[in-house]
Amino acid sequence: MSDKLRKFYITTPIYYVNDKPHIGHAYTTIVADVLARFHRGKLGRDQVFFLTGTDEHGAKVAEAATKANLSPQKFTDQVSARFKDTWKNLAIDYNHFIRTTDASHEKIVVEILKKLKDSGHLYDGDYEGLYCVGCERFISESELVDGKCPDHNRVPEKLVEKNWFFNLQKFLPKIKSAIESGGLAIYPQTRKNEVLGLIDKQALPDFSISRSKQAVPWGIDLPWDKDQKTYVWVDALSNYITALDYPKGKDFEKFWPADVQVLGLDILKFHAVYWPAMLMALDLPSPKKLAIHGYFTIDGKKMSKSLGNAIDPDDLVKIYGAEATKYLILSQFSFGQESDIKVEDFSVKYNADLVNGLGNLVNRVTNMVEKYLAGDIDIKNWPSDLVGQEEIGNLRFKEALGLIWQLIQKDNALIDENKPWQLGASESSGDKAKLKKLLQELIMDLYIIAKSFQAFMPMKSQAIVDIVEAKNVQKPTEPLFPRLNN
Ligand SMILES: [Zn+2]
Repeated sequence: MSDKLRKFYITTPIYYVNDKPHIGHAYTTIVADVLARFHRGKLGRDQVFFLTGTDEHGAKVAEAATKANLSPQKFTDQVSARFKDTWKNLAIDYNHFIRTTDASHEKIVVEILKKLKDSGHLYDGDYEGLYCVGCERFISESELVDGKCPDHNRVPEKLVEKNWFFNLQKFLPKIKSAIESGGLAIYPQTRKNEVLGLIDKQALPDFSISRSKQAVPWGIDLPWDKDQKTYVWVDALSNYITALDYPKGKDFEKFWPADVQVLGLDILKFHAVYWPAMLMALDLPSPKKLAIHGYFTIDGKKMSKSLGNAIDPDDLVKIYGAEATKYLILSQFSFGQESDIKVEDFSVKYNADLVNGLGNLVNRVTNMVEKYLAGDIDIKNWPSDLVGQEEIGNLRFKEALGLIWQLIQKDNALIDENKPWQLGASESSGDKAKLKKLLQELIMDLYIIAKSFQAFMPMKSQAIVDIVEAKNVQKPTEPLFPRLNN
């Protein structure tokens, strides 16, 4: 297939609005942003679709709205706007922000539900769950503390109610072979093995796609059963196709299946099993690749509300700026590995890598070109070989940045070894030629460095390219990365 016809569709999960954006949300969104920018650079802007958004239905949201003395719609308007603000502050360039309360989404979900029912994939049965009377909702085993609802300090009661179920079992063999063949790729390998293990252990019963209106008052009505509301899975997971205007939209024709869906480990099962099963039931292809990152810890501790150690990405942007924040977050650990955020490392790395590493190199080199060559560096052919591009395409962001930073270190060492200030003071024409050659090499490296991290820090990248490509190269008047005040 020619490059012109290729496309790239990337998604983050839709984030639950019961929460404000934290570093985990930011990480997933930054990863998707970098991949989207990387592919836009290769395929053109029109060939890339980057989707993010918010998941806004459910009993917990209704509960939080009541606590905030707002209607659920007003409440979700406010919280989803906070997500949008944070992505704006981080300079995230998505194509579409979907909300599950969008009328267009709700309408298509109803169509999807009807299709699933008409094609015989749904049946009604008894759902038995733990119900907290205080919360007025079913709560999961994992939410309990010492067997009790932590909000109400009471033991939930077992409750049976009629629900509609999706026939997941029927699709498991087909999902298994899709995962094994790589048609549905799961990265990293450990997560692929986990999913295959779940299927082999037969630990995946049919799941319910509805709840009674009493249990979930805030949600999409089941079109054929007025006492039931759609439960999270069909509503939330189908956002990836409703955003493209499934079934007949131009974007759907062009972009489905998704090329990469980025998500956290906590929702692996739903994306690797429930979602492909729903797609198979709709006669649609599965996403090509799921990219799973691990749980976040902060300084080795689990991130939690009670510990108060959740990092607000807006606070990082205030200190470091949007682009440096993205660099600092992605350079801390490899994608898919244990994700421990060391808060102290941010300022250390900011100073070492950005202020003293990259920023200083740009200053040194441009200053010498200005001083010794009167800004005339005379470059005929700009290099086209960039660094770390294969790594970016394969989700190895930390490794890609590592390669780029090796080049920065190499150049700083090159300056120290060749002492251009001595060459500049010499009257010999040999030394002058040597100096020009050295500075040309350094300027071309700056160009390679800037172009190579374009997807991570597009504005800084452009600023450096503008400086080195100028007819008259001058040292920047403002520091690229200002020193921290404290
Ligand atoms: Zn409760």
